[in-house]
Amino acid sequence: ALPIVAIIGRPNVGKSTFVNRLAKDRQAIVHDEPGITRDRTYRPAFWADRDFQVVDTGGLVFDDETEFLPLIREQAMAALTEASVAIFVVDGQLGLTAGDSEIADWLRQQEVPVLLAVNKCESPDQGLIQAAEFWELGLGEPYPVSGIHGNGTGELLDELITYL
Ligand code: GDP
Ligand code: MG
Repeated sequence: ALPIVAIIGRPNVGKSTFVNRLAKDRQAIVHDEPGITRDRTYRPAFWADRDFQVVDTGGLVFDDETEFLPLIREQAMAALTEASVAIFVVDGQLGLTAGDSEIADWLRQQEVPVLLAVNKCESPDQGLIQAAEFWELGLGEPYPVSGIHGNGTGELLDELITYL
């Protein structure tokens, strides 16, 4: 079986958009409603000469983030148990949130390597500034990326495939 890459993070940070960019079959996929991913789906993807599967995770959206976090955790945990590496996606336009910190605290207790993607960084220069505050999460280098435009994803994927 191909190695699995799990994409995790709060709703609306751009996980599904990012997965659509990584997956080979992106044109075939009906887009999720923004912020909502109903099922874990495994999609073929590749970078350089490495093939892998990418799994989107999500959760139901609740107004109160403290209610939704256990659900996202349950989904992400299931995906993480079988993943070779995880990409933790955060929102670089919104900045660091308490929800990000909670997820990071949990992720740091897992054995799977985690790469930190600071999404919605359309401008490379500004992206470095937007990404800087996410060092605080203790997950290593924050990679500024744009799932919509694709910038920064090459650097992240070069690092990703070293874990496959
Ligand atoms: P998910 O809930 O984490 O799966 O997030 P989605 O992929 O559904 O995206 C949530 C919202 O963020 C949508 O309105 C997207 O258009 C927007 N979005 C996703 N990626 C980017 C990005 O790279 N840049 C910007 N500016 N917006 C993005
Ligand atoms: Mg989604």
